[in-house]
Amino acid sequence: MTPIEFAESKQDEFLNELLDFLRIPSISTDKESAPDVRRAADWLVSHLKGIGLKTVELHETGGHPIVYAEHLEAPGKPTVLLYGHYDVQPPDPLELWESPPFEPVVKDGKIFARGATDDKGQSFAHVKGLEAHLKATGTLPVNVKILIEGEEEVGSVHLDPWVEANREKLSCDAVLISDSSMYARGLPAIMYSLRGLAYFEIEIEGADHDLHSGLFGGAIPNPINELGRLIASFHDEKGHIAIPGFYDAVRELSQEERDGFAALPFDESEFVGSTGATAGKGEAGFTSLERVWARPTLDFNGIIGGFTGEGAKTVLPSKVRAKFSCRLVPDQTPKAIEELVAAHIRQTVHPSLKVKIEFHHGGRPVMTERDHFAVNSAMGALKKAWGVDPVFIRGGGSIPVVATFSDVLKVPTVLIGLGLNDDRLHSPNEKFDLENFFNGIKTSVYLWDELAQS
Ligand SMILES: [Zn+2]
Repeated sequence: MTPIEFAESKQDEFLNELLDFLRIPSISTDKESAPDVRRAADWLVSHLKGIGLKTVELHETGGHPIVYAEHLEAPGKPTVLLYGHYDVQPPDPLELWESPPFEPVVKDGKIFARGATDDKGQSFAHVKGLEAHLKATGTLPVNVKILIEGEEEVGSVHLDPWVEANREKLSCDAVLISDSSMYARGLPAIMYSLRGLAYFEIEIEGADHDLHSGLFGGAIPNPINELGRLIASFHDEKGHIAIPGFYDAVRELSQEERDGFAALPFDESEFVGSTGATAGKGEAGFTSLERVWARPTLDFNGIIGGFTGEGAKTVLPSKVRAKFSCRLVPDQTPKAIEELVAAHIRQTVHPSLKVKIEFHHGGRPVMTERDHFAVNSAMGALKKAWGVDPVFIRGGGSIPVVATFSDVLKVPTVLIGLGLNDDRLHSPNEKFDLENFFNGIKTSVYLWDELAQS
C-alpha cells in the first residue's frame, strides 16, 4: 500500500482520533484548565509515539509544556520543522454554540468544535500525513522535527527562550506551519510574506495643569491641537506616509506579484462592505490587496485626553496621550522605523511642549523567497491534493513565531493554510471542513515526498 492509499483507507479512524483530541479543553489562558492543557500535551506525546516517530519528548517550560518529536532517518535529505499548537481559545460566549465546544459534532461535512481548525485540526492533518508514510513504508522520506506548543493563544510567552536554548536541536532547512486559511474554498495558497509591527505611545504636555481657555486660550500651547497637527503631518494627500526615509527599506512589489494579486478572485465591494465603511481609502497607486499585504501603514489606535464628559467645559488640557502603530513590510525593521518616527515627532511638535515617546512590542516583517525548494515542494503537494494550481498570497498581519524562526534558526517558513475564512476561529461554532481535513492529510503525504525529491 502506498502512503496515499493508506491515508485514504484510514479516513474514519483519523477523524475519530481528531475528535478525541478536540474533546480535551486545552484552554491555555484559563488557569483552571491547566490540567486539561497538560492532558492534551500528554495525549499528543502518546499519539506521536504510537505512529512510530523515533523520538518524542515533553518539555517543561515556565508555563504549558512543549511537545517535541523527531525522526531523522533520511541522510542527505532535507530536514523540515513542523510547528503547530495544541492549545485553544476560550469558548465563550457558550450560549452561542449550537453544540458544546468540547463535544465535537460532525454535521454537513464539517467538524464543529473549539480548536477544530485552530490549530488542532490543521496540525493533526500533518501528523496523519507522517503516519501514512511511517505505516505504509516504515520510514519518512525526509528528516522531520515536530514542535507543538501549548501557549500560542496566550502569546507564546515561553516559546522564544525555548527556541533560543534549543537552536541546535531545532536546526533545519525550513519550517512548515498550517495555522491559517486557504485563499478561498477549493483554492489552496502559500503565504510567503507577513507584515511586521512597530507600536508607539506618545504623551504631549503643555501647561502643568488644565487651564481656563478664556484666560489662557490662544496664548499657551494646547497639546491636543498640537497632536492634531502631528497626526496630519504623518500622511500626504495621496495617502503616502510623509516621514522622511520611511519607505527606504521597502521592497517594491514585482510585476509578477502585482499580476498574481490582480488575478485572484477578489470582490472590492464585498471587502469594503464587510466592514460597514462606505468606500476604501489608502495609498494612491495601489489596490486594496496590495495596500493590506505589501505596503506599510501608520494608524492611530487611540487618543486619551482633555474633557470628554457630558456638557461643555472650556478647558485647555495639560496633556494628551495617543497610541499608534505601523504595519511594516520587508525589509523594514521596527528599530529603524522607531528612530525615523521619533525624529519626525521631535521635529514636528512645537518645542514649547514636552514630548514623551514609548516603544511597545514590535515584530519584524518576514518573507520567504518564492523559489525556495520548500515552497516549490508545497506548491507541488497542494496541486496534487487539490487538483488546482495553488496561488501565492501575503498576510497583512503578523505571526510572531515566524519571525522567531527566521531570527533564531535563520530559515524560511512555509505557511500552508488548510482552513477557510469562514471557519469562525476564536468565535462560537468554530468548524473545520472534512474536505479540508482529508485533503490536508493528502497534502501532507505528498509534501514529504516532494521535499525528498527537491
Ligand atoms: Zn492558531
